[in-house]
Amino acid sequence: MKYLLPLLFVAFLMSCQPSNQASTEWSIALHGGAGNMNRNGFTQEQIEQYEEGLQIALDKGKKALSEGQSSLDVVELVVRELENNPLFNAGKGAVFTNDGRNELDAAIMDGRDLNAGAVAGVGDIKNPISAARLVMEQSPHVLLIGKGASKYSAENGIELVDSSYFYTDKRWHSLQRALQRAGKNGTVGCVAMDKNGDLAAATSTGGMNNKRYGRVGDVPIIGAGTYANNNTCAVSATGHGEYYIRYTVAHDISALMEYKGLSLKEAANAVVNGKLSNEAGNGGVIAVDKMGNISLEMNSTGMFRGWANSNGVEGVAIFRDEINQ
Ligand code: ASP
Repeated sequence: MKYLLPLLFVAFLMSCQPSNQASTEWSIALHGGAGNMNRNGFTQEQIEQYEEGLQIALDKGKKALSEGQSSLDVVELVVRELENNPLFNAGKGAVFTNDGRNELDAAIMDGRDLNAGAVAGVGDIKNPISAARLVMEQSPHVLLIGKGASKYSAENGIELVDSSYFYTDKRWHSLQRALQRAGKNGTVGCVAMDKNGDLAAATSTGGMNNKRYGRVGDVPIIGAGTYANNNTCAVSATGHGEYYIRYTVAHDISALMEYKGLSLKEAANAVVNGKLSNEAGNGGVIAVDKMGNISLEMNSTGMFRGWANSNGVEGVAIFRDEINQ
């Protein structure tokens, strides 16, 4: 009896702690790149095309999560959808390097065990995100590059395409314009928390428009553009990759939560609107935490983005001044 009251009191305190499943059964966020965009730079038709592309990918992710699929499967599924859409700078719509080729980067991370896989500088893999998952699950490595990544992918059933698959008029002309002046373009990514409370992140890109041959950005660098940890959050970034590498942006957000106890929103805001915005690290992140909270943080004027959770909260948006959640 003497121990019963203290025990009941501890049990009461524990029941007040937010549990993993407390607020939402599942959550998802995706992005299709960020940058300094303004409405006058788009026709209404273009805005609708982007919103439709985001919505189609979001709907796929929502359906899969509500059916109980794992966050890992869902982030791959959603990123594949965005890779196949030529509007976005990943897969089919990848930008060109300075010498007129396509060199694609992608990474995926499993928040359950911090397992990760990535490919960089590949020019003939239709869906680099699936090659990244192959590297994570089938090889003892984290990052494979260039021809080696393609060879390993082909040996393991990943679809290769002729490099001409990645040719799009839009990206070719934007290279021609960029050869006159430096420029950059968006990327795609997805983060999710599934019904088990597991987190995953995936990011895929053609990199920076007009980048030098051989340049690798932040996307396939675990902790820079992509990170997932069940103890904290899953993050996918988009922006000027060199800064995201130097500031280990995605891991920094996780570390602020883990070591300083910041909330997801506080941590993402501190990194994106703090040290990143003091430099030319223009861009943003999408992130989800283990409670299913979503953060869509940017220091640019726009980020193609979508979000949803099991409570029916959802939307897609482009410009910073649009409502987020
Ligand atoms: N972060 C990508 C890179 O630097 C580009 C982007 O997100 O726009 O390769």
